[in-house]
Amino acid sequence: MGLRGGMPDGGFVQEVPVVSNTPAPSTRIVFPDAEPLQPTHFDDYLIRSPHPSVDLRAPLVFVGFGAEAPEYDWNDYPDDVDVTGAIVVMLAGDPHRPDPDDPERSDPTFFRGSGMTYHGRWTNKFDVADRHGAAGCLIIHDEVRAGYPFSVPRSGWEGEHLGTETTPDRMPVEGWLTQEFARELLGRAGLDLDELERRALEPGFRPVTIGAEAHVTLENTTRRFTSHNVVARRDGTDPELAKECVVLSAHWDHFGQRTEDGVVRTLGGAVDNASGCSAVLELARALAAAPSRRSFVFLFFTLEESGLLGAAHYVAEPAVPIEDTVAVLNLDMMNVWGRTSDVVSTGRGHSSLDAVLERRAAELGREVTGDPEPDKGYFYRSDHLEFLRKGVPALFFLHPGSVYVDRPADYGTAVRARYVSELYHKPGDAIEDDWDLTGMVEDVRMLARIGRDVADADDRPTWSPDSEFAQAADD
Ligand SMILES: [Zn+2]
Repeated sequence: MGLRGGMPDGGFVQEVPVVSNTPAPSTRIVFPDAEPLQPTHFDDYLIRSPHPSVDLRAPLVFVGFGAEAPEYDWNDYPDDVDVTGAIVVMLAGDPHRPDPDDPERSDPTFFRGSGMTYHGRWTNKFDVADRHGAAGCLIIHDEVRAGYPFSVPRSGWEGEHLGTETTPDRMPVEGWLTQEFARELLGRAGLDLDELERRALEPGFRPVTIGAEAHVTLENTTRRFTSHNVVARRDGTDPELAKECVVLSAHWDHFGQRTEDGVVRTLGGAVDNASGCSAVLELARALAAAPSRRSFVFLFFTLEESGLLGAAHYVAEPAVPIEDTVAVLNLDMMNVWGRTSDVVSTGRGHSSLDAVLERRAAELGREVTGDPEPDKGYFYRSDHLEFLRKGVPALFFLHPGSVYVDRPADYGTAVRARYVSELYHKPGDAIEDDWDLTGMVEDVRMLARIGRDVADADDRPTWSPDSEFAQAADD
């Protein structure tokens, strides 16, 4: 394809060191002040730790939504409240308030209305608590605010947890509480969850000391192994701009199962995300065929499904410095069901990349729409997130269409619903006879034009001022 290895040694492979921790069945959280409250692991709470072992006794402090959002003038960690060494307890999701003009809906100017911002994502809540020196963070689950039932984190937290090497001062305890158990725990301490929720939504909310301690004990079994990202590069030609790059990416990993004879078999993964990998390969072939001012980096990430680990490692040790990485186009599940008259851009509204996409979609007579389910937080669930956190704007496509040409009106909803319920993350996610790749071909051609537009533009893309990631770009 005319590409070269993107690594400093000219190779195409980047090693990704991984740490796996499996908590022993003896893992417990007890509340000595609230005897005889003896919750059950996995039924009432979930606990994990990146440390080899934990024996922590700490006070509990309720910190509302645990959000620090200067763009909304919101801070659940006021400067004069010290949570160092405490276990902070918080609500899932974002604070939303009724729209003054229409109390039936959420105010769209505040934490993106009924949509989720990155502040509401559980992984970020742990990071913010860690930054404030907390010893632990427990999120009170809520199906509506979290965007999924408790069974989702529960099944994800059973067995081993994969991560990158943790610094010893990283917060030792991360966890979830069911809403029912949190209500009971708070009730024993004389507090009412509904009342705390009301207070947490008021401007000027201040953290509440719960008046109880938690005692967490945990022993991890740890193993270490190495996985790999694939990194390829096509150099730009502009003397000034060639040091900058546009990234096109897809994750190559999926779920597997170890058979009794030790062989690991992949279970499915055709749409998620072999389809995205094939699209990036085709984009690499197309974009390498003609010169561009900026360079392109084509990335295939490992361990997306295990917590974006390949992408997290890449941004820590990038092939091109992050400040010279001007944009990311990340593809996670392409459309295999025919042409669409629209383009769904998950995470629309964050940057000037929207305008590039809109122009190229309009040439095809296609309309750009945003995430149909903004409350689920899909924009924060794939590899481009690690770039957003570093201030690099991204376009993210997750099934980039929904209104199918020459098909019944409910066709898009029906194929998508079948995929999610029967095939997604299951062995059935395989190539099917009735796949129609005409829409995917059109999408890849459009994405090639967008990639080239960004690589050849005089100016690099900019953030929308109200994006929660605009701040990261300034830092
Ligand atoms: Zn995926």
